[in-house]
Amino acid sequence: MRLILLGAPGAGKGTQADNICRRFSIPAISTGNIIREAVAGSTPMGLAAKSYLDEGKLVPDHVVIGIIRDRLAQSDCEKGFILDGFPRTVPQAEALEEMGVTIDRVIAFHVEDEAIIRRLSGRRVCSDCAATYHLEYNPSKLEGYCDRCGGELVIRKDDDPAVVTRRLAVYQEQTAPLLGYYSEKGILRTVVGQEKVEDTTALTMAALETETV
Ligand code: AMP
Repeated sequence: MRLILLGAPGAGKGTQADNICRRFSIPAISTGNIIREAVAGSTPMGLAAKSYLDEGKLVPDHVVIGIIRDRLAQSDCEKGFILDGFPRTVPQAEALEEMGVTIDRVIAFHVEDEAIIRRLSGRRVCSDCAATYHLEYNPSKLEGYCDRCGGELVIRKDDDPAVVTRRLAVYQEQTAPLLGYYSEKGILRTVVGQEKVEDTTALTMAALETETV
């Protein structure tokens, strides 16, 4: 299964990508995580991307398209993959097609802006394995530490409220047009994000099992 997860920041893409990845044994590829690792490692790409990330802007298309081209060429993607956070612009979606990649499903997560702001203010991410938690809705068993690897949980710099407002505007302007793009292709399903993670997971799995419209 070749899958794209669409949705505003904080809509639940990363959490659901984790669930789908475990259920179907296919890799979840997050361009955001790849870019954050490059920033942390001060690679040339990371250094070039840092200011975009910090300001909540999109990294230029040619950079992320290059990242995805390299990642999809790896052997673990042969049986399928989940793209979390790519494409985020129409030119990125077109580049994916030009690479000859056929997408089976696109799941769009819909969550109101107010709920997103509430979610992102409580979001914590593992500084080692990038697993995501929420203080209220999806807490780790031991506060401040990752259930999976024991890493320290931290607040993402771009979850700062001012940056979140910018990211939501960027989503509306540059990413939301992809809803129409994939709807026209007949492969889009919409999931309305619920307060409880497990409820959203159930809806996501149902959307994967039903026919595309
Ligand atoms: P995310 O973790 O998906 O919310 O991504 C965090 C940040 O990484 C975004 O705000 C962008 O600066 C950058 N980023 C991730 N994916 C993309 C993409 N497909 N196109 C451009 N920038 C991206």
